[in-house]
Amino acid sequence: MARQILVAGNWKMNGSKDSINSLIDGIKAGLDSVDKAAVAVCPPYVYISEVTGLVDGTAIGVGGQNLSTEASGAFTGEISADMLNDFGCKYVIVGHSERRSLYGEDDELVAKKYAVARAAGLIPILCVGETLEERESGVTEEVVARQLDAVIALEGVAALADGVIAYEPVWAIGTGMTASPEQAQDVHAFIRARIAESDAGVAEKVQVLYGGSVKGSNAAELFAKQDIDGGLIGGASLDAEDFLAICRSAP
Ligand code: PEP
Repeated sequence: MARQILVAGNWKMNGSKDSINSLIDGIKAGLDSVDKAAVAVCPPYVYISEVTGLVDGTAIGVGGQNLSTEASGAFTGEISADMLNDFGCKYVIVGHSERRSLYGEDDELVAKKYAVARAAGLIPILCVGETLEERESGVTEEVVARQLDAVIALEGVAALADGVIAYEPVWAIGTGMTASPEQAQDVHAFIRARIAESDAGVAEKVQVLYGGSVKGSNAAELFAKQDIDGGLIGGASLDAEDFLAICRSAP
């Protein structure tokens, strides 16, 4: 069975009430032209409530960009899975490379976040990917396997069927240097093969998105690849027309 294409926008720490209103207006205005992809946006926490209100009644899903491993209590500045649920989130990004590199999130913490999100009924979007140095040293597969294995070790392989994986080569994020469709497909196929070693059914079912400088001009050739099931989009998700062009690129 064909997997559905998902295009999720990661707004990172961008936007204002005004810009978010016009961005969502623009996406909503063009949504009729998107007939194949499921669409989601991940705003900064403080705008989630505003965005869930704006997309109410549309097919646009909303996600958080991060979550705490804790349920509640004395964790200043943190946001729990239940809070994301409370505000209508469907998804939450875990282990984005910026969280890993800037905030010291390691594989074990990311796996715990995946588990907490899943237990709360959120769909975790698990980001994996290698740095340029790692790619050049030939350890891309080793790194991605290690990142996946942390979740499998904590939760079991079946847990991956409840989430989405985003392969995001760190060297391609926000740099304009997109992985070629072949480079991306190779790693996506590796991810599926790695999961298939434990469970072929999960490997076949799990959506694996590509992220890293996806634009309207390169999305179609990426999404046409057998193991690429959509994209996690940073910069281009902040412009309604660019984002819609990517959403329309689902084969
Ligand atoms: C991202 O941050 O998840 C991302 C893929 O960013 P960009 O599209 O800007 O490379």
